[in-house]
Parts: sequence; C-alpha cells; structure tokens
Amino acid sequence: MGVMTLQEREAQACAIIDDMAHELRKLSLYLHDNPELGLEEHKAVNVINQFLENHNFTSQVGLTDLPELQTALRGDYNCEAHHKMAFLGEYDALPELGHGCGHNLIAMMSLGAAVAFSQCAPETWGTTFFGCPAEETIGGKVYMAEAGLFKGYEAALIIHPGGENEVGGTSLATHPLEVTFRGRSCHIASLTDSGINALDCAVDLYQSIKQMKTNTFPKGAIVGAVFTQAGTAPNVVTDKATLRMTVRGATVADLEDLILPAIKAESSRIATNYGATVEMHHYEPLFKDMRQDKRLLSLFNEVMTEFGESPRQLPPDEADGSTDVGNVSYEVPTAQPTLTIGNRLEAHTPEFACAAGSEYGLNQAIKGAKIMAVVALRYAEALEA
Ligand SMILES: [Zn+2]
Ligand SMILES: [Zn+2]
Repeated sequence: MGVMTLQEREAQACAIIDDMAHELRKLSLYLHDNPELGLEEHKAVNVINQFLENHNFTSQVGLTDLPELQTALRGDYNCEAHHKMAFLGEYDALPELGHGCGHNLIAMMSLGAAVAFSQCAPETWGTTFFGCPAEETIGGKVYMAEAGLFKGYEAALIIHPGGENEVGGTSLATHPLEVTFRGRSCHIASLTDSGINALDCAVDLYQSIKQMKTNTFPKGAIVGAVFTQAGTAPNVVTDKATLRMTVRGATVADLEDLILPAIKAESSRIATNYGATVEMHHYEPLFKDMRQDKRLLSLFNEVMTEFGESPRQLPPDEADGSTDVGNVSYEVPTAQPTLTIGNRLEAHTPEFACAAGSEYGLNQAIKGAKIMAVVALRYAEALEA
C-alpha cells in the first residue's frame, strides 16, 4: 500500500470509529451505570485498560507512586516514534448525580479517537491515551503534569460534553487557601484579661478581602470564603478561627504573584495588629488557567463545522470555572472544546447525567471521537509539512 493521503487517513479513522461504535457505547454505558468518585475509579480503569489492550495499546494502570495517580492509566501505541499525540480521558463521577458531568462520554471520545489515530496516523507518530482520574476533586492532571508525563507530546486533545457547541475561552486559575488565626481564650467578662480574639482577625480578613476585590486585585479575581472554625461558646473569647477560601484569578501569574500575596500579607498584618498568630496553607493544589492552542482551536472549529456542529467562538478571556486541563495546557499545546449532548443543558444536574447515558449523547460522542481523530490527523499533517 502506498502512502495515504490525508483525506484517506481521515476516512479510515472515521470508519474505524464506526466499527468500534458498539464497543465504545457499551464501555460508556458501563461507566454510566457504575459511577465512581475520584480516586475510586477502579471499575472504569479496568474496562478502559482492557479496551486499550484489545486495540493493541500497551496499557499501564497506576502511574508513579503517588496516591493521587493509582487510578490513572496510560495506553501507548508506537511511542518510540518521533512525534506523539496525547488524548485525555476522564471517568470520575459526582456524588448523588452519577455522571452529571458526562465524563463517561469523555472517556469514550478520547478512546475512540486514540485508537483511530493510532491506526491512521503516519508511522512517525505515536499515540497515548491518558486516563486522568478525579477531575472533579483533586485534579489528577495536576499531578500528571507535575510528574512530567505530558513532556514530549505535540498536542493534547479532549472534548467535554455540554449544552452547546463551543470552541475557545479559558478557565480560571485557582489555588484554595486556608487561613487559621490563633489568639488566646479567656472569659468574655474577665476583669483581668481580654484575651486575643481570633474570630475578630478572621472577620477583619473577610472584610478586607471584600475591599481588595474592588481596590487591589486584578480584573477577574474571585474569592469565595467560609468560616470553618469560628469559636465554641459566646462567653469565651475565640482562640482559633479558620477561613477556607477558593481564590481564583485570570492567570497563574495574577493569582500567584498578586492576589494570593496580597491576601497573605493582609492576613499577617491583621494577626500582628491583634497580637495573634496566623497559619496559611493551600489545602488543594493549584489549578492553572487554560491556555487554548490557537491552531488546535481553529482545527476544531473547522472540523466541528464540517460535522454539522458549528461551534460558538468564545473570546480567549471568557473564563468558565476551573479545570485541571489548564495544567496540561501549560505543558503542551492543548484544546478542550465543548460538544452538545442536549440543547442548553447545564453540567452537574440530574438532567445532564441522564443525557450522558442517552442515545443522543452516545451518538454525539461517536461524532466527537471522529472530530477529535480528524483534528489530530490534520494537526499531525501540518506539523510534518
Ligand atoms: Zn464537572
Ligand atoms: Zn467535567
């Protein structure tokens, strides 16, 4: 057989996905019927591992020694090749809602695309399917990126199901922070001692942050705070008070260089002012903002349109939530468009969970796998040229 044209490769990739459609749907429905929370995705990882081996990938469950990556997996095909393409799969579910974020479809799309690409790409290209655990909680990709697993890849692709077709936009950088003030307790009506009220410190910090949102923080900063410890009895001066905060910024630089240092400095200033002490720690890892790759975005736009799913173009600074895909996007060219599985559906709802197991949802995911495979083939071709 001679060298295939790009057109022939694309047609073959789509035919391979059609041939696997039954198997892909079965796998996706199995995940849907057996929802598992982050870091507990053992059934998911087993069936995905089996699927990859059935399709000639070398698969490994559990990556590195990290406890966060025991339900991560990777399937490699021809990875000694000069170039490598990464397809990102997710499979964790939500408490109560099951697959209310449709990660069963993400796994299905990326598996279909990875197998098709492995069979149709030029010989100089290898393929890896990365099974990324716990997107909804600790963010498996944070640890995978930190461990350098995405190094050496030309691109990383993922499609998220949603309520409409969208390409572009970004996500916010977030680095959750806990601040604990410690003072000194005594009776509230003591004649000899007024103690040091840690709750006063925490309340002052809460108020300061409200001010800083308008006066100090860069545009796009968001802080959500709750008091997780605020004392035990009204007649005792509170000696320990804790604030938990989700702190978000438009970029990692805004967050780490401006917003968080400002909050930390203010916390220290307040503690000193009261004669209290303060401890600060990040109780969850840094999720980086999403840097979508322009070439991939324009390919997704082009191919989704060809498949009858014309996407809405989001401006590059339009941020929606936070995702660990952002951490991948700092390592390798990445894009994550949204493919509709039902008009105007919102993720994290029972309706979305229902759509993620519906006939329409599964059909869209087959289409999504083809779109991703075709985008990968065109990206590879452009890089070779
Ligand atoms: Zn979600
Ligand atoms: Zn999701």
